[in-house]
Amino acid sequence: MRVAAHTLGCKLNFAETSQLLRRFAQAGHTVVDFHEEADLYIVNTCTVTAVAERKCRTAIRQAVRQNPKAQVAVVGCFAQNGRQQIEKIEGVTWILGNDEKHRLLEIVERAEKAESELSAELIKDGRWEFAGAWSSGDRTRAFLKIQDGCDYFCTYCAIPQARGRSRSATIEEVVKMAEECAKSGAKEIVLTGVNTGTFGQQRGESFIELLRKLDDIESIARYRISSIEPNLITDEIIEFTARSRAFLPHFHIPLQAGSDNVLRLMHRHYDTALYREKVEKIKSEMPDACIAADIIAGCNGETEDDFGEAKAFLNTLPLSYLHVFTYSERPNTMALKITPKTDMHQRRKRSQELHELSEKKMRAFVESQVGKERKVLWESSRHDGEMYGLTDNYIRVRREYDPELSNTVTEVVLSKENIVVGAPTD
Ligand code: SF4
Repeated sequence: MRVAAHTLGCKLNFAETSQLLRRFAQAGHTVVDFHEEADLYIVNTCTVTAVAERKCRTAIRQAVRQNPKAQVAVVGCFAQNGRQQIEKIEGVTWILGNDEKHRLLEIVERAEKAESELSAELIKDGRWEFAGAWSSGDRTRAFLKIQDGCDYFCTYCAIPQARGRSRSATIEEVVKMAEECAKSGAKEIVLTGVNTGTFGQQRGESFIELLRKLDDIESIARYRISSIEPNLITDEIIEFTARSRAFLPHFHIPLQAGSDNVLRLMHRHYDTALYREKVEKIKSEMPDACIAADIIAGCNGETEDDFGEAKAFLNTLPLSYLHVFTYSERPNTMALKITPKTDMHQRRKRSQELHELSEKKMRAFVESQVGKERKVLWESSRHDGEMYGLTDNYIRVRREYDPELSNTVTEVVLSKENIVVGAPTD
């Protein structure tokens, strides 16, 4: 069977698609590009915004158009939360939410063997079990899923409905997957999850213990933590990162709102003072660290005063850049009941202002690094005679293509010429 996949959304989804495709390949199926004719198309979906859902519908229709005889499996977050909308699209064979998608190979193979009535048990048995995954993608970097789901129920967020309660692999399982990543040639691993800091909580293990064990795997040169909630990034984690062999000075700490009033409405687990404390602690331990923050523009309940407070807060924080999201209503979330509602015009205006602020911060961060020597992991692909790489503190750099350097780490003095300006790719 020829199998093709298209992924929307976060790094977790990309890791899970890679895992699915690897399982299909190991079972003897051929993986082809999504634009080619395939017998099975997998669309791994995202529900984070209305725009993301629209892109999912477009990808599903594209798959159906490419080969109307193909099976189309729609999996992931939008499949979990938007089943009824997907059912209306003609040509969809399977709709599997996050609790079921890791079983796709078994489901398709069973159906092939004419056991067309899929046993409900096959799916029900595994409801919300943890399914490990890692993506190989570019040979140099792998995204390794260590945790899934979330117990926080922030008022604007539909992820707990889409991905279930928090659960994770064991330390032993993650170490095994990291070793597999190393064998595949990856030099850098990005630890991913929905709420990574809750790793191990149900199993009597902890995130810091995991970091210590991973640091001992010499075949992996570098690790990044994809994102960690401010209330879960302990001083112990920050101090460990600063002194570890392989954990990089790069943090992604969701802020979501820069005023205490809106943080309370969002049911976040911290206030602006705690957030500032964490950012300042990181900068005192690692002055060149890159720190990115997610922020939502125009959430319900955010007044002009709150937004003004947020901008003032952000202006004084040593952040490197922002991931700005325009607030989008998610069905069945508590934020729908919060008043006053922020109209679309205000949301877009605030989003634009935050994008401008992010660019300013990014420029200042990059300029602060000019003349410094940083370690760069070079990627393997060639673009117009050049190659690209990422510094330990997440600055994209370029140089003349040299195949010998691909997937190696070298020291580079940063300059206006070799820095690629603009927000990093993810
Ligand atoms: S921490 Fe909040 S925003 Fe993040 S996934 Fe959990 S519920 Fe959603």
